[in-house]
Amino acid sequence: MKIDFANLQTQYQKYKSDIDANIHAVLKQSNYIMGDQVKQLERELSLFTGAKYTITCSNGSDALLLALMAIDIKPGDEIITTPFTFISTAESIASLKAKPVFVDIEKDTFNIDANQIEAVITEKTKGIMPVSLFGQPADMQVIQNIAQKHNLKVIIDGAQSFGSTYNGKTDSNLGNISTTSFFPSKPFGCYGDGGAVFTNNDKFAEKIKMLRVHGQNKRYHYKHIGMGGRLDTIQAAILLAKLPHYKKELEERERVAKNYSNELKSSIILPTIRSNRSGVWAQYTVRVNNRDEVQKKLQDNGIPTAIYYPVPLHLQECLKYLNYKKADFPAAEEASKLVLSLPMNAYLSEDNISYITKTLNNI
Ligand SMILES: *Cc1c(COP(=O)(O)O)cnc(C)c1O
Repeated sequence: MKIDFANLQTQYQKYKSDIDANIHAVLKQSNYIMGDQVKQLERELSLFTGAKYTITCSNGSDALLLALMAIDIKPGDEIITTPFTFISTAESIASLKAKPVFVDIEKDTFNIDANQIEAVITEKTKGIMPVSLFGQPADMQVIQNIAQKHNLKVIIDGAQSFGSTYNGKTDSNLGNISTTSFFPSKPFGCYGDGGAVFTNNDKFAEKIKMLRVHGQNKRYHYKHIGMGGRLDTIQAAILLAKLPHYKKELEERERVAKNYSNELKSSIILPTIRSNRSGVWAQYTVRVNNRDEVQKKLQDNGIPTAIYYPVPLHLQECLKYLNYKKADFPAAEEASKLVLSLPMNAYLSEDNISYITKTLNNI
């Protein structure tokens, strides 16, 4: 049996007629930049998430940058975040010459340990950037309370979590500003690069819209230093074709995750979703002691896996100047040694899942 990790080909074949029609409509109109489809997508994403404003953009990394620029992050400012995430989270902070300040993660959810945040707040702290890792929001109530008490902004890196909820609200609708990525293999992906910023705040929305087009407030008049950060119309058209199917896709991802959890043996540590949250299963990530051996044996049996993430950010070469060292964040470091993400997509059959779990259980 040959298993596909994200199975983007099956997805395309499933929605092909709508996707092709939408792409051709853009070609016919030649409205490649900021076409009507971009505006329509923004309206529909706001309806889907409940966020008052959706500002689509070039990718999930630029979405974070736009959010930080909107709250006026300056060199020397500090943003508290997690070391167990994709590089963009800290990169966005560092590229504005602000300082990523890490705190360790919760062992079971892999998300920032909200109870360790207050200890690292200084007078330079301007914000907290939790990541909804693998599709599950962090402990937003605790984070929100800390932010309020210390007058900090909360920016959620929701690159992996479009559609996830915390106490019934989507994570695009929590915090001051939230982001997502439409990278093809994310739960809600386009067929190239794409991203979005969400906010309920009028001022932030207005500024982010300007920042996305070089800080322009009137044609060829520039109020802020911004960026060329728009989403292509073709990518918006693809997302419009996929959006009506997304709820169903999430149900299917939930089915796959449930079956994995029911079928895997007890020595494998399963992912946990807290009771007040829903995740979108960007990844189904287990922890195993003999990870390298397990990964190789699965590979030999036609089962692809991935390691998100093998090196936590505080130990990355590009962030050496922050002077963190080994053992600073034991939970993140342990996770990076044990985690293994199994194939996850809406099209894994029951047969696929039992083949994967049987193979894994027998290693
Ligand atoms: C994918 C990802 C990003 C970046 O998104 P791009 O669209 O690839 O720029 C940022 N943060 C996290 C946690 C991600 O997983």
